[in-house]
Amino acid sequence: MTVDLDFDRQHIWHPYSSVLSAPPVYPVASAEGVHLQLEDGRKLVDGMSSWWCTLHGYNVPELNRAAEQQLGKMAHVMFGGITHEPAVELCRKLVEITPAPLQKVFLADSGSVSVEVAIKMALQYWHSQGKPEKSKMLALRNGYHGDTFGAMSVCDPITGMHHLFANNLPQHLFVAAPECQFGETCEEQHLEEITQLLRKRHGEIAAVILEPIVQGAGGMRFYSAEYLARVRSLCDEYDVLLIADEIATGFGRTGKLFACEHAGISPDIMCLGKALTGGYMTLAATLCTERVADGICRGEAGVFMHGPTFMGNPLACAVANASIDLLMQGPWQERVAALESQLKQELAPLVDSPRVANVRALGAIGVVEMHEPVVMAKIQQQLVDRGVWLRPFGKLVYTMPPYVMQPQELRKITSAMAELLA
Ligand SMILES: *Cc1c(COP(=O)(O)O)cnc(C)c1O
Repeated sequence: MTVDLDFDRQHIWHPYSSVLSAPPVYPVASAEGVHLQLEDGRKLVDGMSSWWCTLHGYNVPELNRAAEQQLGKMAHVMFGGITHEPAVELCRKLVEITPAPLQKVFLADSGSVSVEVAIKMALQYWHSQGKPEKSKMLALRNGYHGDTFGAMSVCDPITGMHHLFANNLPQHLFVAAPECQFGETCEEQHLEEITQLLRKRHGEIAAVILEPIVQGAGGMRFYSAEYLARVRSLCDEYDVLLIADEIATGFGRTGKLFACEHAGISPDIMCLGKALTGGYMTLAATLCTERVADGICRGEAGVFMHGPTFMGNPLACAVANASIDLLMQGPWQERVAALESQLKQELAPLVDSPRVANVRALGAIGVVEMHEPVVMAKIQQQLVDRGVWLRPFGKLVYTMPPYVMQPQELRKITSAMAELLA
């Protein structure tokens, strides 16, 4: 059996796709280790970790076993009035490995939903404190937090095309993306806008929401840890909560288990997703401090107002437990550090090309930023012809390999990038 591509083209939406001019989609038959097996027999090295999720690669025996064992017990059970071992074990692990003040865990079904939950937590918290006027989010330009309405409202207004949804979208506050680069210090001028805004309008601001250290889908920008540390202090000074969206950065991607650790800070609310199950299925989590949780529950509602049907899905929790164990028991720091130095070394020569604006790498993230947007369908086909799977966007051609990728496999990716971009 092969995939019916005509049916696909005529009836199926793919992410951010048009039904009028559908670019080619590649039928994948199976995946193993760091490779995708196309139906036509070609094998591609996966430089995307399936949108940054598959830390351990595909078809991982430990994760398969966890799913199979859990399947024999129960695939799902409601979480209202019921609990189960996979969820309890997962939440225990999350409380243990995240910064100490984060003590309460809300299991959500996707990254976007965990951001919705984080925003609702912040709003309910201030409502309970008798300050319902603290209802705005302060977000960074170039940020990305998901596609549902609440999450979309704190994404970059331009790339998120807020004007399309203007009548239905909550209006929040934005400051420019951090100008100070990762590894650099932060000058006063870099913090001026956010300082002024917090000083003037903290009375209406519930929380600052940001992606710590790496702004992902909004531009793959790496910014100064000092910026993050200073924003944490500003939030304390002006009594505003800090929401760290670690959905892309969590579980070691930037070289620290959580990107907040680069700045030695802890947020009041943290969102996790993407790599939580090692890329096996959808699951996310929102963690918060005792202060936030107690505040919410002392308020008018007396409860936190959220409860998804598939909350705490046992199958997803069991796989997440196996994925976290596999990560923590393995030498992930060494692997991510080795990927970083190889990416830096092999992508560096590309800066000499007149088409290339910037080259950067942090942890297991390697980015080539072009002067002009790339034609995705064309470059994707050229990459596939070279046995490599990447999904560039805008001016960015980047890779986020699974941590288990071997040097010669990563070299295949970086040399394809070099050949096509230089
Ligand atoms: C991917 C992503 C999200 C959204 O997660 P979904 O699972 O796609 O809903 C939110 N925030 C960040 C930083 C992300 O990278």
